[in-house]
Amino acid sequence: MLITFYGVRGSIPSPGIATARYGGNTSCVFVELQNGQILVLDAGTGIRELGKRLLETDDTINILLSHGHWDHIQGYPFFKPIYQPGRRIRVFTSAAGNHGKLCSLFSQIDGANFPVKESELPSKSECIMDDMESVLAGHNIHIRHAALNHPGGGLAFRIEEDGASCAYITDNELQPPNTPVTSYAQWVEFCQGVDVLIHDAQYLESDLPEKHGWGHSLVAQVRQLALDAGAGSLVMFHHDPDRTDAEIDFIQKENESFFRGKRAPAISVCAAEQMQIRLTPQRRGATLIEVA
Ligand SMILES: [Zn+2]
Ligand SMILES: [Zn+2]
Repeated sequence: MLITFYGVRGSIPSPGIATARYGGNTSCVFVELQNGQILVLDAGTGIRELGKRLLETDDTINILLSHGHWDHIQGYPFFKPIYQPGRRIRVFTSAAGNHGKLCSLFSQIDGANFPVKESELPSKSECIMDDMESVLAGHNIHIRHAALNHPGGGLAFRIEEDGASCAYITDNELQPPNTPVTSYAQWVEFCQGVDVLIHDAQYLESDLPEKHGWGHSLVAQVRQLALDAGAGSLVMFHHDPDRTDAEIDFIQKENESFFRGKRAPAISVCAAEQMQIRLTPQRRGATLIEVA
């Protein structure tokens, strides 16, 4: 499994000299499975760059959409494969986190919010909201999902292939002020032993109490989850748009000292555009995790 980050920022694109190293594009992660299947996790502005690369292939594109907030859908109208005649695109998402049965990726391309209408696109796209696990399994893609603690709802995904695994959990508040949809204990179970845990780490203690209940987690809570779930590696994701490169460097340093001497995870990084993580299954169920 090869994971490549194309957009790592939360809420709104944040280009500029203070964010250039980690990147200002919003959520988009590309997952290439060993069996040749490809998955795109969210369609924030990062998907534009990925789209150029996918023009060179004719693989069916499977998009797992966490929810319909702007920062997760905004890149889709600029995703070049949607303009390729006959290109197959399958979107997997839920009615929670979208306008009911209307997939937000498609509904924004309506001739008013964007100059083109979805019905005019030459690609062949479909949206699957029910039984996504079994539909994906039919294409040899094995996932589980969980419900996000986030205003409007949404989905987290855990992808498995030949003993390698990756959990993608963004726009999730681990300790919300009200009763959570998914409890902390359930998140620990969902992430148990995962090789790569990608989790929303948008806030610091200084963002509270103002942003408590906004649907994002604190860096400290995400560190604890990685430890409690025994994750092989942790990737902090969905950086706040106001978080500068220097501030993310500081979080990274604090992560290293927090995890030093602890049993897990062996690797912790803050997501950056173009970062790649390669997972190679080894003997006896272990997985080699390489970050570049
Ligand atoms: Zn978001
Ligand atoms: Zn959101």
